[in-house]
Amino acid sequence: MKNIHYLVYIFFTFIPVPGLIAQEQPEREITNVKGDLYRFREVRHIGMFLVTPEGIILVDPTNSKVSSWLKEQLDKRFNLPVKYVIYSHSHNDHSSGGEVFQDTAIFVGHINMLKNLKKPKINDPLLPREVLWDINKDNLIQKNESIGHNYIEDYFDLYDKDKNGGLDRSEIWEIRFGGNQIPPQIVYSDKATISLGGKTVELIYTGKNHTDDMTVVYFPDEKTIYTVDFLTPKRLPRTDLDGGFLPDWVDSLKKVELIDFNIISPGHEAPGTKQDVTEQRKYLEELVEKVSLQILQGKTEEEILRAIDMSHYNHLMEYDLSILGNISGVYEMLISNIMVNQRR
Ligand SMILES: [Zn+2]
Repeated sequence: MKNIHYLVYIFFTFIPVPGLIAQEQPEREITNVKGDLYRFREVRHIGMFLVTPEGIILVDPTNSKVSSWLKEQLDKRFNLPVKYVIYSHSHNDHSSGGEVFQDTAIFVGHINMLKNLKKPKINDPLLPREVLWDINKDNLIQKNESIGHNYIEDYFDLYDKDKNGGLDRSEIWEIRFGGNQIPPQIVYSDKATISLGGKTVELIYTGKNHTDDMTVVYFPDEKTIYTVDFLTPKRLPRTDLDGGFLPDWVDSLKKVELIDFNIISPGHEAPGTKQDVTEQRKYLEELVEKVSLQILQGKTEEEILRAIDMSHYNHLMEYDLSILGNISGVYEMLISNIMVNQRR
């Protein structure tokens, strides 16, 4: 029996993962976007920086390994200090690692980052969408309750720190928000402008989407925007839409369409254009409309998963990986909105 397991293990270990083989890129790289504006990438995660005569404005330090490497690169190439670190949002895979710039930089982010970076207490209530999964209503998500909810299921064993067989609100928080993020020292609510060395960068809040603390970073001279997780050109939003917000997400995309830019440089995948933003908005808008209609007709989540056809978007990256998760995510967010409203 053991041998069979071993063979199965070997077999699965060597199955090529589509995309990974074709992608013969270095693990880390810095690429120019336009003028003094650059992207830096480690595997799937991308941040940005703008070089000015008085120092560097950096966006999303990513993690400590990346930021240490980046600091070396910046010192070598430009010999200028990082004066500002801007955060796209508080998720630990984008906003960790700022400590290497702490002696020279001011940290800036949306005001909601401050509450999101505070660790909840063990007994804090689950979020509305998590309440839907909590079948036995014990304010914990047991392993069987996490099945199909991939942002919890995939990390269950790692984050059940007290090993009581269930994740409480503080353990769930750790998955996305726990880390070594330096909290923003300057916060804003709608719009902020940073000026340095004759250059400006605008921080724009377009409302709730993938999180409630998301900043669109706008480089007006370069007519470029940086967007993370809620807006990725030519790709579906990841799997079950994580802890996102609907219908706000659609409105947020509409606000991005109104910004005067030519290039969208995302936190994952390759840069795109305004057409890609419109495509993302149309995709999500149609999906929300279709799921809403099914909910009004009294359909269950399983029936909705079978009924909805979005295959005209199957040219987008990760369609097969994420389409069912996207439908589920939209359904659960809309249903939890209804339940919250009923409780009021
Ligand atoms: Zn995120």
